[in-house]
Amino acid sequence: MQISFHGAARTVTGSKHILHIKPDKKILLDCGMFQGMGKDTTTLNSEWGFVPAEIDHVIISHAHIDHIGLLPKLVKEGYKGKIFCTPATASLAKILLIDSAKIQEDDLRYVNKHRGMENKPLYEPLYTEEDAAAVFPLFETIPYNEHYKIENGLDLMFTDCGHILGSAAINLKIKENGKDIRLTFSGDVGRYHNMILRSPQAFPQADFIILESTYGNRLHGKKGKLIIPAFSMGRTQELLFMLNRLEMENRLPDLDYYVDSPLSIKITETVKKYPGYYNSEVQHLLSKEEDIFSFKGLKYTESVEDSIKLNDKEEPCVIISASGMAEAGRVKHHIANNISDRRNTILFTGYCEPLSLGGRLKNHPDVVKIFSKEFVVKAEIAEIATLSAHGDYEDLCQWLGCQDPRQVRELFLVHGDYEAQQAFSERLIRKGFRNVTIPNLHQTIGLGIE
Ligand SMILES: [Zn+2]
Repeated sequence: MQISFHGAARTVTGSKHILHIKPDKKILLDCGMFQGMGKDTTTLNSEWGFVPAEIDHVIISHAHIDHIGLLPKLVKEGYKGKIFCTPATASLAKILLIDSAKIQEDDLRYVNKHRGMENKPLYEPLYTEEDAAAVFPLFETIPYNEHYKIENGLDLMFTDCGHILGSAAINLKIKENGKDIRLTFSGDVGRYHNMILRSPQAFPQADFIILESTYGNRLHGKKGKLIIPAFSMGRTQELLFMLNRLEMENRLPDLDYYVDSPLSIKITETVKKYPGYYNSEVQHLLSKEEDIFSFKGLKYTESVEDSIKLNDKEEPCVIISASGMAEAGRVKHHIANNISDRRNTILFTGYCEPLSLGGRLKNHPDVVKIFSKEFVVKAEIAEIATLSAHGDYEDLCQWLGCQDPRQVRELFLVHGDYEAQQAFSERLIRKGFRNVTIPNLHQTIGLGIE
C-alpha cells in the first residue's frame, strides 16, 4: 500500500490523500479546495496530480471547504462512486458547495468584467451550482461509531473528533495481500471542552495515522464598533452561543448584533437540527432553554440591500459576517468600509492563510489592498485564539493518547505550517512514535508492507 498526498502537504488547505491498495484500488480521503494561497491558488486547484475517474471510493472527514471544496470538480471530471460521510457532514456540504459555486461565479463576474474590457480571455469557474448539485446523489451517510463494509476487505468507522458539527476521524481496516492494515485519518481534530460540541473521541488502535496539525494562535481582543469575520460553520454558532450566555449572565452590552451572511443563517438552522451532536452541558441547557443561539439585539440580514445599509449605521454595533479569513463574502466589504476609522475593531476568530486578507491584516500593515484599492489601516486588528476549532499541541497529544505508539508503524503529519510540523514531529518522537513523516505536495510514500 502507498499513500499520496495531493494537498494539505506542508500547508493547511486543499486536503486530499489517496490510499493505493494492491492490486489496484484507490481511495480518496477528503477532496479539499486550496484557499488563500495568493496567485498559486488557481493553479493548485486545477492540477489534481491524479485522475478523478480512476478513484474507486471517496471518504470525507468534515464539511469545511478545504476538505470538500473540489467534490463538484471531481464528479464533473468523471468520478462515479459514492461519497461516504456522516449525516451532518452531508447536510452541511450541500449548503456549502452551492455557496462555493456562487462565490466563484460572483468573483469571476467581477474579474471577467475587467478582463473583457482589456480584451483578455475570460476565466471559467472551477464549477457551477449545477455541478455542485450533481454531487448530492453520491453522498452515502454513516453515523458515528458504526462499522460499515464499503466492500470486501475495506471496513470504515467514523469517530467524532469534535472539530465542527459532523466532523469525524476516518478509521479504516484494509485487507491487502491477506494482511490487515489499520489506518486512521484524523481530519481536523477539535479541542477538548468545545463550547457546543462533544470532545474528540478515542479511536481504534492504528498501524498508520495521518494527522492534521494546525494550531490556534494567541489571545487578545475587545471594544468598539466590532466587525467579526467568522466562518459560517462552527465559529458563527459559537459566537451566538457565547453572546446568548452573556445575556443569561446579564453581561451582554445593549447593542445591535447583526449576522450578515445568508450562509451563516442556513448553517445555524442546520446546526439546530442536530442537537444530538452537542456535548452534554449544551444538551442540558436545551432542556431549559429553547433557542441557545438567540438573544436580545440579534438581527439577521439576508438581502444585499440590508447588508449595504449597515454601512450608514452611526451607532456602535457588532457585525458577524463570513468568511473567516475575510477572503470572500460580505465581510470583505465591511472591512473596506470600516478599516480606516480608529474607533472600529476587526476581530479575527480563527486561523487565516498568510496571503488572505485576514492573514495580511493580522500582520498589522499600515495600508492594505482590498478589491484592488488601497486602504489606510486605522481600526484595531485583534484576534481571539481561544475560539480556534483546531486543537493545540495538548489537544492533539490527548487525542493520540488512546494509541500505543509502539504499534503505530508510521505517522504522517498533514494540514499544518511546515515549521510547526517540525516542532510537533520532535515532540511526537519523544512520546514514543517511531516514524513521523511530513510529506510534500504530490509525494507518494510506500508503507513498506509487502
Ligand atoms: Zn476543518
